[in-house]
Amino acid sequence: MVFFMKSCDESLPELIGVYDKDNSNTFVSLYFDGSDDHFIAHREKVIQCLLTQDEQKNFVKTMDTIQTYLKKNKGANHAIFASDKNHFFKALSFPVAVKNSLSVDVSPYIHQIAELADEWQAYTMVLLNSNHAKIFSFSCGELAVEEDLSADIMNKHKKGGMSQARFQRLRKGSIHAFLSEVVEALSKITTENIIIAGPGETKKQLSGMLPIQLQKAVIAEVDVAIDDACGLVDETREIIKEKGKEEHRRLLELIQSEILRNGLAVYGVKETLAAVKNGQVEALLVQKDVKHRGWLCEGCQLIEEGSSLLCPSCGKRTSEVDIIEEIVKIAKRTGAIVGFSQDERLQKIGPVVGLLRFK
Ligand SMILES: [Zn+2]
Repeated sequence: MVFFMKSCDESLPELIGVYDKDNSNTFVSLYFDGSDDHFIAHREKVIQCLLTQDEQKNFVKTMDTIQTYLKKNKGANHAIFASDKNHFFKALSFPVAVKNSLSVDVSPYIHQIAELADEWQAYTMVLLNSNHAKIFSFSCGELAVEEDLSADIMNKHKKGGMSQARFQRLRKGSIHAFLSEVVEALSKITTENIIIAGPGETKKQLSGMLPIQLQKAVIAEVDVAIDDACGLVDETREIIKEKGKEEHRRLLELIQSEILRNGLAVYGVKETLAAVKNGQVEALLVQKDVKHRGWLCEGCQLIEEGSSLLCPSCGKRTSEVDIIEEIVKIAKRTGAIVGFSQDERLQKIGPVVGLLRFK
C-alpha cells in the first residue's frame, strides 16, 4: 500500500493510530532535507547494531523501499513513515525545510510533522470580483484550486431602451445570484480559516452574505486586483502564521493564569506526561525544537524521564525515547490541540505546558 499525501493535517490521524502490535521496533520514520546523503547511511549503520534479528530484517527491507522511493522522487524535504512488516508506507513532501532524522520505533515519530502542521495551518482563500471567483485551499504550504466560478454578469453599459434604474436592478440581481453560488461552494469546502481577497466592495458583499458560522471563520480581507495576485500567497501565509502565533500567545496567557491560581493547568515534563496519559489535557503548548530524554517499556507501556536499562515495574528491557515526542503523540491521540511556540515565557515554565479539561 503506497500513499502520497500532501497534507500533514490529513495524515496525522492515521500516523498516530498505527503501531506494531508485537511491540517490535519496526516503524521507520525518516525526515530528510535531501542535502546530506551520508546522513542516512550513518544512521542506518548504528540503528542496525541495536536491533534484534527480526527487527533488523524488517529494517533492511523497509530502508530498501524508502531508498527506491527517494531515487524516484528527487527533491528535498521528505517525511517518510514505513514498516515492511506492517505493510505501511506513507510519504509526504514539504515546501519548508525539515530537520534530518532517522529513527525506528514501535510507531511513527510525529513530533516534526505535528510542528509543521501547526505552523502551516490549513486555510481557504476566495479571490473574487463581481463576476469571477476562485476558491483555493492551502495545506502544509501547498496550494490547490478547489472551485473556479464565473458568471455572465451584464457589463456596465446598459443596452438601448432600458432605463438606468432597471439596468442597475438587474445587474445587482445577477451579482447577488453569482455571490450566492460562491457562498454555497465555499460552505461545502470549509468552516474555518477563510481569507477573502479581491478588488473593491465585492469582498464585503460576499462576507455579508455568509452564514454566521462562516462569517466568524473569516480571518482577513485582502484588497488586491484580481489579475495581480502574485504576491497574495505570501501575504496570506503571513496572515495565517500570525494568527497561529496570536492563538499560542492567548493559550499561554490562559495557562499562566490557571497556574497562578492553581487551576486547570499543568506544567513540566513529568507532570504533563502524567496528565496527557490520563486524558486530561485539552490544549498542549510545546517549546519549539526541544527534546527530553526518557525511556519507554514496551512490556508495560511505562514511560519515564531519565534513563533506565530495565523497567523497574516489569523487569523488561526499556528503549530510549524522546519524552516530548511521546507527550505530543499521546496528546494527539486523546484529541488535544497541540501548538508549538518560541515564546520566552514558555522556556521558563515549560518546555511543555497544558490546559486541562478536568483535574
Ligand atoms: Zn515494564
